[in-house]
Amino acid sequence: MVPRVASASRPPAGASLPPSTVDCIIQKRDGGALAAEDIQRLIAGFMRGDVADYQMSAWLMATYFSGMSLEETVALTDAMLRSGLRLAHERNALPKVDKHSTGGVGDKISLCLAPLVASCGVTVPMISGRGLGHTGGTLDKLEAIPGYSTRLSPAKFQSIVRRIGVSIIGQTEELAPADRRIYALRDVTGTVPSVPLIVASILSKKLAAGLDALVMDVKVGSGAFMPDRRAARELGRALIAVGAQLGLPVRGLLTDMSTPIGNTIGNALETREAIDVLTGSGPVDTVELTLALGAQMLVAAGSVPSLELARHQLERALSSGAAAERFARMLSLHGGDARVVEQPSRLPRAPHRVALPAPRTGFVRSIEAHRLGELAVALGAGRTRADQAIDPRVGIELCVQRGSAIERGAPLGYLHLARRGAAPALVATALAAFEIGRTRPRVVRRVIEQL
Ligand code: URA
Repeated sequence: MVPRVASASRPPAGASLPPSTVDCIIQKRDGGALAAEDIQRLIAGFMRGDVADYQMSAWLMATYFSGMSLEETVALTDAMLRSGLRLAHERNALPKVDKHSTGGVGDKISLCLAPLVASCGVTVPMISGRGLGHTGGTLDKLEAIPGYSTRLSPAKFQSIVRRIGVSIIGQTEELAPADRRIYALRDVTGTVPSVPLIVASILSKKLAAGLDALVMDVKVGSGAFMPDRRAARELGRALIAVGAQLGLPVRGLLTDMSTPIGNTIGNALETREAIDVLTGSGPVDTVELTLALGAQMLVAAGSVPSLELARHQLERALSSGAAAERFARMLSLHGGDARVVEQPSRLPRAPHRVALPAPRTGFVRSIEAHRLGELAVALGAGRTRADQAIDPRVGIELCVQRGSAIERGAPLGYLHLARRGAAPALVATALAAFEIGRTRPRVVRRVIEQL
């Protein structure tokens, strides 16, 4: 390894002069901490065009290696928040709570969770993202519904939220624009997996949306962004600490992402499964995660005193049809075809469905989420570059979960394909994600712990 040359920190330019951009980079490079004003100046300079992309990239890499103190992370979050508009909702309105997941495979929870929580009297102004890498995105799933628009102005978004208590849109130019520009640099410089940078990215957007509280679903396991439990816990705790400093109460769950959530991966397939949750026939783990996160949201909003009572309220909203009805209203107000709630067959479907036959008899010991997430991208359900088009019809349907018994030749699942040509190779890739053994594995619950 080449030794580092002794630090060439510059002497301060003058007692009264603020540090230059280069000084800020050097300070972080050498493991120092920046003052809140310097971070504010750096981000404002970047947004004005006075700090070049290559300088910001160097600063991000220095921050990736040196980390940030709590004070610095708070200052960065605040500076990114101040780069744009902060939505002000009506005074005395119902509490506004959002849920944010760190990203997973088969994660359709937001689609059923947001209308469910809204039907229990809590406002959910949800700003979501698209799929990137092996993880899917809520916006892509909603856009599988014919007509649904995820691009609304902040005014239209607020008007839907006022009317029905829920709306799900994409990030707009107006809210925390610094995050969008900084994330684009992080994405191509290997600086995404940094706890302070992730915290500032997530919380700046959530603060801009004018929330009263936030619930984080921090995922851990092979399909998560943070496979390691210790790192995921560190991220969750940092989100809670920084949120508290900036007046945003954050609650969080650490949840398992080693196997795909539910029985589907792919946009229209997952939307259909979210509708199943709302209409009473969703897979057990998907319903469980929805209820666990929903209970956290109702308690975070202060609308019920305990998680147990919250859960009862949510179960009633599912069984009465109130949650499904709220979803249908949201679809209509976004220009979408609300008939899909009663007739999910209206969702787009791939022309080919190809079985994944089990290679032997036994128990499904694992289903590798990361591999199936990557396969779904290869089928066209996701993207490897932000500007790629996706196919809402394609994906993977699972007939088994971890622990299921299976007979040789019976289907572990099906691939939903736009073209049949590459099916044999795709089937082989999919089968490599399943481990079948002689003994039943121990049960792993989706919810690991409260942060
Ligand atoms: N999600 C975000 O919004 N930002 C990150 O930096 C990582 C995940």
